[in-house]
This record gives sequence, C-alpha cells and structure tokens, in this order.
Amino acid sequence: MGKVILDGVTKRYADVTAVDNMNLEIEDGEFVTLVGPSGCGKSTTLETIAGLTLPTEGTISIAERDVTNLPPKDRGIAMVFQNIALFPHMDVYDNISFGLRLRDYPKEEIDRRVERASDIVQLEGMLERMPDEMSGGQRQRVAIARAIVREPEVFLMDEPLANLDAKLRVHMRTELQRLHKELDTTIIYVTHDQAEAMTMSDRIAIIDGGELQQIAPPLVCYNEPSNLFVAGFIGSPSMNFVEGEVTANGLTTPDFDVEFDPGQLSGVAEGDHLTLGVRPEDVYLRGMSEGVTNPTQPIDARTDVLEPMGDEIFVYLLTGEAEDPQMDVDAETAEMPQNQLLMSVDPSSEIEADQDVEVVLDRERVHLFDTQTGDAISHTLEFATVEPGATETEAEGDD
Ligand code: ADP
Repeated sequence: MGKVILDGVTKRYADVTAVDNMNLEIEDGEFVTLVGPSGCGKSTTLETIAGLTLPTEGTISIAERDVTNLPPKDRGIAMVFQNIALFPHMDVYDNISFGLRLRDYPKEEIDRRVERASDIVQLEGMLERMPDEMSGGQRQRVAIARAIVREPEVFLMDEPLANLDAKLRVHMRTELQRLHKELDTTIIYVTHDQAEAMTMSDRIAIIDGGELQQIAPPLVCYNEPSNLFVAGFIGSPSMNFVEGEVTANGLTTPDFDVEFDPGQLSGVAEGDHLTLGVRPEDVYLRGMSEGVTNPTQPIDARTDVLEPMGDEIFVYLLTGEAEDPQMDVDAETAEMPQNQLLMSVDPSSEIEADQDVEVVLDRERVHLFDTQTGDAISHTLEFATVEPGATETEAEGDD
C-alpha cells in the first residue's frame, strides 16, 4: 500500500543542488526519518514526495503509482509541519474537519473520522475548544488529527516538534511512536535532531550535502556507521576521531599506537592514512575495564575538563605532551582536537581534573575509516593482533 520509492531524485535551484540523486525505498507501514544538518536537503526531499516541489530529475512512486507530476492532493499523502497553522477563529472540531468539509464529505463520515482521529491523539472532550485555549502540545495534536482524518497512505512530517519545549518534545516522541503503531501507516519524518531520529524510527536516512549517506535501523547507524559523517553525526556526544598511519603492526597516531594485523583488513596497506573512531563509552580507565575482554594497549593521558552528568561523567582527556587541545583537524570530518579523547565513566569513579591516567579502548568497538574518502573500513579490531598484547592476558586474569 503506502510504499514510497524515490528513484534518482535530484532537485537543483539555480546553482544549488538541494537533493542529489536520492534513491530511497520506504516500505509500507515503515517509520523512516530523514536526518541531517540544516541545509542538507531533508525538507526538499520531503517536498518532492509531497508534490510541493517537482524534482529536476528522477521519479517518485507512492503505493505503486508514479506520482512524480501529480499535484499534492492526488498523492494520497498528508503533511504535518513545524508551524502549526490552525485557524484561530475555528474550534478544534472545525479545524480537524476543515479539509473534509471543503471536499463535501457527508456529515456522518466527517463525524466518524474526527471522532477516531481525536481519539487516537487523545483530544476527546476538547473538540469545542478554541486554539488559544490549548497548549502547544495540544495544538500539535490537532494538527496531527487534521492529517489523520484524511486517511492518507503516507504521513509526511517536517520537524513537527521543533517549536515545542524540550520536555514536551520528548513526550511527543512517544506519542508519535504510539500513533504509528495505531495507524500502521507509512510515516516519513524530517528532523535535524539525531536523538529524535534514533528514538522513533524503524530506519534512519542520514543526508549530507543533498546526498544519502546511509539508510539503516538506528542501532546499525550507531554501531556500523558507513562513513565518517554518519559516525560523527549519530551519537551525542560525538565519536572521538584520531588520524593515523598504517604500519606493519597496526595504526600509529601522533600520541599512541593501536595494534592490529593490517593484513586482515582488505584493501589496507602500510602507509595508508586511516582515521580511528571510538565512542566515549568505549574508552575506559585502565583500572575499570574489567568488562572489556579485548582492550588496546594502555594509552597515557591526562584528565583535562570533567562534565558530571549525574548518571555518568564525561572526562576530556589530553593525550601526548601538549598542554592544551590541538585544533588542527578538518572540521568537516572531525570536530574534536587530535590530542583529545572524550571518555564516559561511571559517576562513582574518583576521577579528578589534571590527573595522569592510563586508558584503554575496547578493541571490539573501535572503528577505522579511510581518512581521505571517509568510508568505513572496519567496525571492530577484535581480530588477532600481530603479537597478542600483555593487556589481554591481564584482562582475562581480572575476570
Ligand atoms: P534542510 O531541510 O535539510 O535544512 P533544505 O531542503 O531546506 O534543507 O535546503 C537544501 C538546500 O537547498 C539549501 O542549500 C537551501 O538553501 C536550498 N534551497 C531550498 N529551497 C530553495 C529554494 N526554493 N530556492 C533556492 N534554494 C533553495
């Protein structure tokens, strides 16, 4: 039914390519989120699906019909926008039913649909309220109910929660998931907020510069990012990135080495420039790494700034001799200074600023990327090192 296929969709405005050869196949009933930084082409992609703008090249089909040149009203879609444009002089019932009344639906049919929609978004008993008597969240629910009554094949939502305060936004996330379950309809959702994308979607499509970077379930994007962009965009705080050069024994970075057998990675040769990626939760104080069966050699570091979050402490570590973070990286690929590692530790850790420490990385969760192209090469270093390090034996002894 509500399957959506974008085949080679490109949208150019004068000298801007807003969407660049987008290929997407969204299954019937799937909740797919288009996510990426501001200006990456998310809204334009959604607008081509809605029919609010026509693609320069490519085709779009919805529910097995080519809709590329059809007007929005004939596409079987309903949209919910960031700006909840309710008619201020109409009550909730009239706002929800406006489109149906315009199309001369019979009164009984309108009543049936309004009742069902207001039930789904939990607006029962509020149908006679005026918009200015409602909270932001309630108004957004009216806007969603207005889309539901159209009984579309596909819902298109463009940052519908962006204008709500932080707490309500988190609450509405669960409401939207419930809504999706209840309606069992395809939802294509646009947001710049990776946390929103991670929590609600069956799959996330990550877009940068008009190009699709990866489309996969949230945890696959998190655990197996296809390139440096996805790795840096998904996850908060961001993954650590350190550039290095491949040697016969692994990767040498300016401040530390990570051992592995480069022969086990296809297409990797000595002298190649790779970027190591590791998430803050996969960096451990050496004395607190009991659960890590396969740690790297210890890395000398000094604690710089601490950020206690309550349930964890973020510790900014400096590696090497430099006293300060060294900002000499390409901000496109890695925003962290090269000699800085962010580590997340348990709040019970007695860690202080300006302390010399040894840390290890969980080799099973270390990523390698081609520094030049950004493409992922490996999402683990669990395969054999050249000479199994002493640390592995120690870790086993600790168990
Ligand atoms: P996002 O939704 O990811 O923030 P958009 O899809 O709105 O990004 O925009 C993608 C790019 O296309 C941006 O560079 C934007 O400036 C450009 N763009 C969008 N709409 C128009 C338009 N009507 N005319 C010219 N450029 C546009």
